[in-house]
Amino acid sequence: MSVIKEVIGKENLMPYQKISMGKRKKIALIAHDNKKPDLVEWADFNKDILSQHSLLATGTTGEMLSRELGLEVTRFESGPLGGDQQIGARITEGFIDFLVFFWDPLEPHPHDPDVKALLRIAVVWNIPLACNRASADFMISSPLMSEEYDRLLIDYKSRMEKRYIT
Ligand code: PGA
Repeated sequence: MSVIKEVIGKENLMPYQKISMGKRKKIALIAHDNKKPDLVEWADFNKDILSQHSLLATGTTGEMLSRELGLEVTRFESGPLGGDQQIGARITEGFIDFLVFFWDPLEPHPHDPDVKALLRIAVVWNIPLACNRASADFMISSPLMSEEYDRLLIDYKSRMEKRYIT
């Protein structure tokens, strides 16, 4: 994969790969219905910063952010129709490098398996992930937001190969 720069790490230590994130981050935003007002308020407060990055969102979340805040947002399908899975696939392909996902901890959803899968993929690819407002506040106010950043990725490939050999 082209975004993976190199394998680093010493023998007997965990080998890592590096994936570069540019100054302009590709930020995915998702909020469940009960959390949408929270996300819109947060995005409004951070509008100046967010507008310096590329924004992507599931259908209804993206529609709200565009309509209410005038932000330019690339929209996927709505979450229950596969939007979470589309975002997960983009993370795997290296096209999304930041996720703000205000999921609702108090209500079940028809697409709960997709939510779990997306959270898992965000961890696999070691992208910054904020699931509540306080985390999102800390993340967006980090000096790294406006800098290039190499995120480390466990070299799962060699780990898998070892698994199959033994
Ligand atoms: P929505 O999807 O932005 O289309 O509401 C979010 C979700 O429910 O995962």
